[in-house]
Amino acid sequence: IENLPSDKILENSRRQVPEAVFSFVEPKKTANPKVLHVSDEMLQELGITKEESKSEFFKNIVTGNEIYPNTKPFAMCYGGHQFGNWAGQLGDGRAINLFEIEHQHKNWKVQLKGAGETPYSRTADGLAVLRSSVREYLCAEAMFHLGVPTTRSLSLSLSGDQVLRDVLYDGNPAYEKGAIVSRISPSFLRFGNYEIFSARKDVKNLKILVDYTINHHFPHLGKPSKENYINFFREVSERTLKMIVDWQRVGFVHGVMNTDNMSILGLTIDFGPYGWLEGFDFGWTPNTTDRQNKRYRYGNQPNIGLWNLYQLANALYPIIEDVEPLEAVLNQYKVDFEAQSFAMMKSKLGLFTDDENDMNLIQALEDNLQLVETDMTIFFRLLSDFSDVKTGFHLIENAFYDLENITDEVKMRWINWFEIYQNRIAKETISSEERKTKMDLVNPKYVLRNYMSQLAIDAADKGDYSLIDELYQLLKKPYDEQPKYQKWFAKRPEWARNKVGCSM
Ligand code: AMP
Ligand code: MG
Ligand code: MG
Repeated sequence: IENLPSDKILENSRRQVPEAVFSFVEPKKTANPKVLHVSDEMLQELGITKEESKSEFFKNIVTGNEIYPNTKPFAMCYGGHQFGNWAGQLGDGRAINLFEIEHQHKNWKVQLKGAGETPYSRTADGLAVLRSSVREYLCAEAMFHLGVPTTRSLSLSLSGDQVLRDVLYDGNPAYEKGAIVSRISPSFLRFGNYEIFSARKDVKNLKILVDYTINHHFPHLGKPSKENYINFFREVSERTLKMIVDWQRVGFVHGVMNTDNMSILGLTIDFGPYGWLEGFDFGWTPNTTDRQNKRYRYGNQPNIGLWNLYQLANALYPIIEDVEPLEAVLNQYKVDFEAQSFAMMKSKLGLFTDDENDMNLIQALEDNLQLVETDMTIFFRLLSDFSDVKTGFHLIENAFYDLENITDEVKMRWINWFEIYQNRIAKETISSEERKTKMDLVNPKYVLRNYMSQLAIDAADKGDYSLIDELYQLLKKPYDEQPKYQKWFAKRPEWARNKVGCSM
């Protein structure tokens, strides 16, 4: 790179970029940048003071209007399988990596989303709008506080530019406010970063990237070697599974589990059309472009995790050249999934000893939850107060979307289930107070329901950013009672029924 003339280094035109892990780029200057919100926890993690975060310099850095001295922003090259098909080169089409921050022995990468085009922007503009940015900003932080592995958010800003996202029925363009999120992760590498080299038969760079990944992010595995490539793959598989079991626990549906959206560190990344289960439904997806096949539906996320790991295994094969150990890891994923998801469901029910009928109890519960529309978050939160079959149904009434029309048969099935549940918890060794405490630590009271982000987006669009902060504060403690925020412990209102989030 040192020997290249500078105009070559900053060649930004959209193109295939063979043999590249990344391309140097410059963020686009924006018309009137304004920081709307900053994550105070992330500031602390990075060792940035509140004072500094209020400076012009901070604003200019996190909106791409100034480049930190002696750093060289870049966009990464990656490929990916989208909706089951190989899609070729994708890359950071609207993400720009700025620099790394080291603080308290942790290394963080800082990335802007929506700061302009890169060689990987393909046919799009490299920009992001306010609504998708509010959603990504809030959700990443909410996931962190739920205890789900995730990338983080540092700041949410308006660019001051207008972004074209839609053309109205009358042919007029619909402009929206442009926005930029600065997001943070130990690494933004995705399965697709490895797949692209494999697809291009570029084993040399594949090996360089895998060795880099092990040295920087999996140093406990020791020096890169064939054996450690397998250990690396095993750990990626384990982390991916752990993340997905956490998603299932809190009712999070990612919506676009393409391999380019799968972090090599097993972190939740790229918050697009994601959603949260309201009515418990294995078949639900928030992604309107996936309503036909429902490939990325709630109940299919664990399978898709495995499918994606198969693609990663294929990508790593050229440097491992041995199918068996890769298959062993993939088989182990299935075994571990069964065990972990069983343990997770038991914890949601407050069961900590073993009973041969627990599998049936859980199965019966999942069947019941799908009899009529039943809010997952509210149901599990209320369940920790269960004491007696006589009051059980009354206890969970608030979880039903249409309580008035619940038939006697549905009611009977719940009473039957509560009878079994009551007998089962009687066999537990802990007190009911202890059980409640433990259940409330795995069953969140507050999640970022779609309508909540929507309200924050609508207000922000009119210049009121207070709801963004209210939700941010609320979701810092999703497992706490927080009486002052009780109004957010509520089912989705009817007006929001068929409204889904948008990724663009
Ligand atoms: P996603 O579905 O959001 O994970 O995006 C898939 C690919 O499309 C990635 O390579 C993104 O960088 C790219 N992409 C999405 N939106 C834009 C945009 N507005 N401008 C440029 N690239 C985009
Ligand atoms: Mg993506
Ligand atoms: Mg996206």
